[in-house]
Amino acid sequence: MQDLGDALLRLAMRHSPVGMMVASPAGEMLAVNEAACAMLGYDRDELTGMSWQDITYPEDLATDTDLVAATLAGERASYRLNKRYVRKDGEVLWGDLSVALLRDDDGAPLHFISQIVDVTEQRIAAERIEEANATIEKHARTVAAIYDAVDVGLVLIDRSGRYEQVNRRHSDFMRLAYPEGHHGMAGQTGEVFEADGVTPMARQDLPSHRATAGDEFDDVRLWVGSDPATRRALSVSARSTRHADGSLAGAALAYKDVTDFMRALAVKDEFVASVSHELRTPLTSVLGHLEILEQRRDLPHDVRTQLAVVDRNAARLEMLVSDLLYVAQEADATLQVRRIPADVAAVVRDAVEAARPMATGAGVDLSADLPDSLLAMCDPQRLRQVVDNLVSNGLKYTDAGGEVRVRLRAVDDRMVLEVSDTGIGIAPEDVARLFARFYRADTERVKLTAGTGLGLNIVRSIVEACGGEVRVDSEVGRGSTFTAWIPLVAPGDG
Ligand code: ADP
Repeated sequence: MQDLGDALLRLAMRHSPVGMMVASPAGEMLAVNEAACAMLGYDRDELTGMSWQDITYPEDLATDTDLVAATLAGERASYRLNKRYVRKDGEVLWGDLSVALLRDDDGAPLHFISQIVDVTEQRIAAERIEEANATIEKHARTVAAIYDAVDVGLVLIDRSGRYEQVNRRHSDFMRLAYPEGHHGMAGQTGEVFEADGVTPMARQDLPSHRATAGDEFDDVRLWVGSDPATRRALSVSARSTRHADGSLAGAALAYKDVTDFMRALAVKDEFVASVSHELRTPLTSVLGHLEILEQRRDLPHDVRTQLAVVDRNAARLEMLVSDLLYVAQEADATLQVRRIPADVAAVVRDAVEAARPMATGAGVDLSADLPDSLLAMCDPQRLRQVVDNLVSNGLKYTDAGGEVRVRLRAVDDRMVLEVSDTGIGIAPEDVARLFARFYRADTERVKLTAGTGLGLNIVRSIVEACGGEVRVDSEVGRGSTFTAWIPLVAPGDG
């Protein structure tokens, strides 16, 4: 029986893929199988001359020794342990070790039988996963810290409009907007107002509601809170978020505090409005008295001629003042134009002649290509403003030796006014903003030139009020061409 047992054990040891060892109670390895040799990188003779302590990774020795002692003391019959071995080539092998103690008939320890399964790959994989998890956690903590520290309110909403995440900054804005509390769903109305600061924002206009519907936008301005001391102006952007398969997941919204900017804009508009009001009162008086004077029959001819000049200039001044008032109003206000039959060629010719002293002063060649006359329904004073602004810009932004050309012609049922220069030109990124109020290109040359950034805004407003459009083609360093198309006859006139 004993022989059969030994034979079976030997057979199992030889063919098992599991490393097997028979060791003396002291640890000396008496027999090892091929699998054990292959795992540890030793041949059989080398291994059998060593103890299991010799091939155990030093840090794992104590645990194994304690278990051996407990087994020898009879506290347990066997044990199982995950431990490290050091292979002959110095590499570490992770083994899943099961150990049993054989005793003789009297109970005295005979030898230990150990089985080792190589679990190195699993351990390495597990360690990698652990490392990856630690890295992900670290990144998540960093992102969370940034998320809360940034000066921008951030909100993530899901497809149904549910608020999934709100950072600290945005919680502050939410408290202002929803003093009664927020239900966590997009589209809740509250103390949220349009850019004018007064009109309550309707549900369908709320950025969160629009973003839930998949709308993407930038710089939607609104106010939150109604207390003038604490309310804030916000500029909101939204982008849709998507799942890996491209389907809509929800939206991310960013709320930037633009209170100071909005207040500065309001102050500027108020300033412009009050200055133009102040100017208008004395001007009205001047114009009124001029009218009375002009009605007098007893004035010498030369005085009448001079009064006409004063009158024309005072009228122009009044128009400039009303333009200032116009720009101080909300952007959607339209300029008043009064169209009458007029010779636009004469208007353009006068404007070019009036600019000649400025051209001479700037050393710029100013020329005009105009028909003798071109009759149209137009507001001559407004048209004059358009030409004045475009020509004076051409002269201002062209260096000495350059040219400014003015061309007027009729094409089909429109007049086409073209003012081109060989000046500094306009960068593509500026072209789109050129016609905005107070916009001036951010270049040294422009900063050195006097200007308000209102001229082109007024040009566009006038041209559009006449049913026309204005366009600019430009190349930096080569020059610009401003072209205005205006119907010769206003719709309804003809
Ligand atoms: P202003 O000339 O008073 O600054 P405008 O509204 O007339 O204001 O023009 C706005 C800006 O457009 C200018 O500040 C300048 O940067 C640019 N600009 C206008 N006309 C020209 C031009 N002919 N060539 C180059 N830049 C121009």
